[in-house]
Amino acid sequence: MSYGLTREQLDLQARARELARGSIAARAAEVDRTEQYPWDTVGELHAAGFMGMTVPEAYGGPGLSFLDAVLVIEQMAQCCGPAGRIAVEANMGAISAIMEYGTEEQKTFAAQFPLSGDKPAICITEPEAGSAATEMTTRADKHGNTYVLNGKKHWITGGGVSRLHLIFARVFDEAGEEQGIGGFIAVKDECKGLVIGKREPAMGLRGIPETEVLFEDLEIPQDRVLLPPRGFGDLINAYNSQRVGAGTVALGLAQGAYEQARDYTLEREQFGRPIAEFQGLQWMIADMATQIEAGRALIYRAARSRGANDSPFPDPICAAQAKLFTSEMAIKVTNDALQLFGAKGYSRNSAAERYVRDARMFAIAGGTAQMLRTLIASHQLGMKLPQHREGFIDLARRAKRSEAAE
Ligand SMILES: Cc1cc2nc3c(=O)[nH]c(=O)nc-3n(C[C@H](O)[C@H](O)[C@H](O)COP(=O)(O)OP(=O)(O)OC[C@H]3O[C@@H](n4cnc5c(N)ncnc54)[C@H](O)[C@@H]3O)c2cc1C
Repeated sequence: MSYGLTREQLDLQARARELARGSIAARAAEVDRTEQYPWDTVGELHAAGFMGMTVPEAYGGPGLSFLDAVLVIEQMAQCCGPAGRIAVEANMGAISAIMEYGTEEQKTFAAQFPLSGDKPAICITEPEAGSAATEMTTRADKHGNTYVLNGKKHWITGGGVSRLHLIFARVFDEAGEEQGIGGFIAVKDECKGLVIGKREPAMGLRGIPETEVLFEDLEIPQDRVLLPPRGFGDLINAYNSQRVGAGTVALGLAQGAYEQARDYTLEREQFGRPIAEFQGLQWMIADMATQIEAGRALIYRAARSRGANDSPFPDPICAAQAKLFTSEMAIKVTNDALQLFGAKGYSRNSAAERYVRDARMFAIAGGTAQMLRTLIASHQLGMKLPQHREGFIDLARRAKRSEAAE
């Protein structure tokens, strides 16, 4: 199934496949074992033109689409989860937000980072504000032409290796009045007060550090502010590209694990015949292949949904459905792949257990499976589903009032 990909897209996909299945695959186990950021892989992604792919030509990039980026990410993740994730953040998320909402100067400034091999970081989550992201307490206080940021983020992908940071903070004007949540552009090593905290010992995708990022009187000049009136809604809308990217890594991991397990069933013999001859396993293979294909259809649809309702980003519901489905599908498919390997799959010398660990995070990061279901349900029901207790009380009051009015 070619999904209507153009000749250029098929060529791009083939180029990505060749790189992924060569040196990037060869290094994947080592990256996982050493937990070191794979600078060699980054160098190869950069040399191949796979970082900053979505940066418009006006800012020095090739101006490719989200679907083009998805094709590359998928191939990388089939062989190496961290390579897939690096390709996500170098083409989506923070860089997409800046390219859409930034001033000319900000776009020119930000574009050089992914185009020179940087994987930007996006800083939203805080210890007390996870799913309830708008409860963040990191604050940005205006002092003349500068904002001073104080607070702490955690689970920031690429903490310590990323240079460009997009930081979300609660903004206060000089009178101390809150203005809403805004985005701030900062560069590690150039901005005093941007401090990398402790690293989380993560279960999977171990080649990319997940760390705390602290702001200690971090001064951001006015011209590095991607701020209200844009506000949180617009900024988080940009996150829909990252969501599609994350779902693509899950898809790629599932495909990679599946292919290795399927091939193994043709080689491994028990009871005097290849285990692929047992119907129980044939049906597992059929289910795995079907689930992967369903995930791919949702991901490609979401990547192509940019432009719907004039949005520069993928449609939020398409993105949520794609990530929800692929994140849970990848958990199931990678587990089934491990099962097909028997004890061999359970060994830390096998790729199967790495795929299981790498796939686990996508139902958590970037909107948990539960929060995505709530978003999808609110769209289906045509109503905002408040998560705060008071929100439900308000809804009940409103329903009572309209009953009384009738
Ligand atoms: C590997 C990894 C990488 C990450 N990278 C980044 C990053 O680069 N930048 C960044 O800002 N953040 C990042 N995160 C953080 C991630 O976005 C958060 O972990 C996520 O939003 C969930 O927040 P939480 O972990 O605090 O869970 P909580 O919000 O505390 O949720 C705990 C559980 O409760 C459920 N829950 C919470 N509220 C509701 C509700 N209203 N209805 C139903 N269920 C609910 C959740 O689904 C979950 O199962 C990363 C996380 C991981 C694991």
